[in-house]
Amino acid sequence: MSQPKVPDGVAYMDGRFVPMAEATIPVLDWGFLRSDATYDVVHVWRGRFFRLDDHLDRFQRSVDRLRLALPFGRDRVAEVLSECVRRAGLDDAYVEMICTRGVSPTFSRDPRDAVNRFIAFAIPFGWILRPEDRDRGLHVAISRVRRIPPESVDPTIKNYHWLDLIAGLFDAYDRGAGNVVLTDGDDNLVEGPGFNVFAVGDGRVTTPDRGVLEGITRLSAIQLCGEIGVPVTMGPLAAEALRRADEAFVTSTAGGIMPLTRVDDRPVADGAPGPITRRLIDLYWQKHQDPAWSTPVRN
Ligand code: PLP
Repeated sequence: MSQPKVPDGVAYMDGRFVPMAEATIPVLDWGFLRSDATYDVVHVWRGRFFRLDDHLDRFQRSVDRLRLALPFGRDRVAEVLSECVRRAGLDDAYVEMICTRGVSPTFSRDPRDAVNRFIAFAIPFGWILRPEDRDRGLHVAISRVRRIPPESVDPTIKNYHWLDLIAGLFDAYDRGAGNVVLTDGDDNLVEGPGFNVFAVGDGRVTTPDRGVLEGITRLSAIQLCGEIGVPVTMGPLAAEALRRADEAFVTSTAGGIMPLTRVDDRPVADGAPGPITRRLIDLYWQKHQDPAWSTPVRN
């Protein structure tokens, strides 16, 4: 049987750099069998990492909280990421770092027996909403699937517990939407598959503060709102508030700040990206060349 094609790129695992197609983990790795893993994704744009330190900090925090351990320190992690990008020959890249629980040599059921595994890879940059689709914006359904409660799986530890998000996506496709936002089961929005959500109403921006990953792009959007003098509330965001918003957007490393223009079968306001969203998008991409926000890939 021929192997499925995978994106071009370079991975690092088990101490070696390998072509992406050769980066495979053993079936007995708990990362695969139990989703017992954490990860982070940083991007490179025109040869520069965007907010690398923030991603490395979040990754280390997640590793510590899951009682995992990396094989080496932060500087070596950063070097490996650079080396993946360099070897892949990419100017714009999606760069992922992963730590899995690994394989237990005896297949014991005690996670402390497993030998943790570090993996990294760089592949071409990918978008949740491509720039050419920005004027149209993202169309989401508000899912009937409830997000895993934060008391069960802490969403601030970046994780692969995505069955709710995937079920939500299929729910959205069945209802004619291209993407999905999940709720906490009480009609408060939480997040979508790989993005945070924001609504703008009466000149104020609101984003949920509970049951979500504290996205680095979410932080960028909040800081950029500060730069342009738009107040931000981090607090409950009712589904109805998104439906009635003046404008809305989502944030992710995979695409930055992206307009959200349709919820279920209705447009958000007039269905076009709003002025605050547009300003934030412009500023966000400008920051990619700013040394305060970005660092060059090391040679
Ligand atoms: N929420 C979830 C569940 C995610 O997986 C992600 C990113 O993959 C985000 C939000 C956005 O986070 P960031 O802006 O750090 O990419």
